[in-house]
Amino acid sequence: MATRREKKKDLVLKGTAASPGIAIGKIYVLGSNDVSVDYSAISSHEVDAKIKEFQTAVADAKDEIRLLKAQTERALGPDSAKIFDVQLFMLDDEAIVHKTIEKIRAELVSADYSFYQVVTELEESMATMKDEYMRARAADLRDIKKRVIFHIQGVQQKVLSKLSEPAIIVAKELTPSDTISLDRTKVLGFATDFGGRTSHAAIMARSLKVPSVVGLVVACQRLKTGDYAILDAHEGLLVIHPSDTSIRKYRKLNSDYQGFEQRLRQHKELPPVTKDGKDIEVAANIEFSVESSYVKEQGLHGIGLFRTEYLFFTRPHFPSEEEQFNEYAGVLKTIPDQPVIIRTFDFGGDKIPDSFSFPPEDNPFLGLRAIRVYQKYQDLFRTQLRAILRASIFGKMHIMFPMISCVSEIRFCQQLLQEVKDELSAEGIPFARDIPVGAMIEVPSAAVISDLIAKECDFLSIGTNDLIQYSLAVDRGNELVAYLYKPYNPAVLRFIRDIIKRGHEQGVWVGLCGEMASDPLATMVLIGMGLDEFSVSPVSIPLIKTIIRRVEFGECQNLAERVLSFSTPDEVEKYLGEVFKRKFQDLTFCL
Ligand code: PEP
Ligand code: MG
Repeated sequence: MATRREKKKDLVLKGTAASPGIAIGKIYVLGSNDVSVDYSAISSHEVDAKIKEFQTAVADAKDEIRLLKAQTERALGPDSAKIFDVQLFMLDDEAIVHKTIEKIRAELVSADYSFYQVVTELEESMATMKDEYMRARAADLRDIKKRVIFHIQGVQQKVLSKLSEPAIIVAKELTPSDTISLDRTKVLGFATDFGGRTSHAAIMARSLKVPSVVGLVVACQRLKTGDYAILDAHEGLLVIHPSDTSIRKYRKLNSDYQGFEQRLRQHKELPPVTKDGKDIEVAANIEFSVESSYVKEQGLHGIGLFRTEYLFFTRPHFPSEEEQFNEYAGVLKTIPDQPVIIRTFDFGGDKIPDSFSFPPEDNPFLGLRAIRVYQKYQDLFRTQLRAILRASIFGKMHIMFPMISCVSEIRFCQQLLQEVKDELSAEGIPFARDIPVGAMIEVPSAAVISDLIAKECDFLSIGTNDLIQYSLAVDRGNELVAYLYKPYNPAVLRFIRDIIKRGHEQGVWVGLCGEMASDPLATMVLIGMGLDEFSVSPVSIPLIKTIIRRVEFGECQNLAERVLSFSTPDEVEKYLGEVFKRKFQDLTFCL
């Protein structure tokens, strides 16, 4: 909105809004997280000072880790915080500490170089071990290596918990692991140069309810720590050195927005049904089990997508069957009467947990991802299936498999699921007998044969985040081609229409759990195409439900038909914007 900008005085960067909200405050620019160490010889009279320098750095690193541990424990629970115990243990280990000191003394080399050599050697030997747990330790070693060396070199590490006062974080890029380590009491918002709205760090920011704008391209270059700015994560703007008038305007906007959200939440218990009586499911997407309580607060809804891979970002090792069981059972126990769709882990692409050694790939998004990982590492998949099945007795468990691209993949998943069920039965371990199984349709080949895939399962869920990237050949996290990443591209709309139709013809229900389900402009179109379930970011539940309750199925069908007659995404978006403004004047705040 041009009127929100103070064109004369404020410098405004434009990116993509990734998690709604407004943040006003100081900037903290995160540096690169790469460690660089050069060989550096020391003289014998420097030895004691260098050893002292090393010991102080270790002590500082340990303080930092304890702080991170406490914050993670508060945010995500004690299990997630265990990752840090391993690192503390390593920093007490004689094989690391004593060896570094010996090296400084015997070889007359600097503290950072000595520590780097000792840890890298250990790390390399662990990285090649067969045992998954030991390989995961290599990632911990990498972490402590950076932390201690940054302290020795006096470099500010990319550790969000180090913030001494609340700030808007500006970074080139944030990974899911960076995002999870943030201190939510201090982070006002995220502004990144890279990344798209559906990159996984952006999805996580939404889960954590932190306002975020991605794809700002030059934010790191234009800002320095301490600058004052406004992050408008509705419009996707970063206003640098704002004038007093802008600050006042944005404060007002922020309080208006909170009032708007409050009003939407007033009817949270009402069912999502159109004016002419068509029932639509509205469910939530979650990344962490603790979010299920927030979903419950938003009304009576199930979980349409539990992205289980995030469990793996909060632990130093591949979570055991027991740990996974506790997570899944926890979600079901919080919402025992509503369906919970657990998606088996979707690694690969931009989701590579430290605990898992992925072979290097030129095109990770087209490589070893999701179902393809299960085929290669069947034990990991079986462990997860056991945990899910054991947890199924606590509620309405559903299982969903990601990245299915052909019939044989869904058959493989079904077969393994059956084998694991047989195994549990033989062991006398109880599990629910009637667990619906679904496939995500997020690869174009699956969209085209969605009728064949529907025959093999009980429901389909359209993953538009990936379906858009794969069908339009546009990396979902690349801001350089973000202008092509369009849910309203007629090709994507036709895919969605056809998947729903083919699913219905085979007698299965069809949901949509990509970010498009949370887009208020798309709601009427999707209803009109016959979508049965919207699985949305928890923050979007009240809005999407409000729209559903105010429309008639017939008018949505007409709208969908009209929209499918347009030739370009811009025509569709313009038309939908006009309809929305006419029909929902009081909701335009969310556009
Ligand atoms: C999707 O691709 O739309 C989806 C929901 O899965 P993810 O975003 O986790 O890849
Ligand atoms: Mg996906």
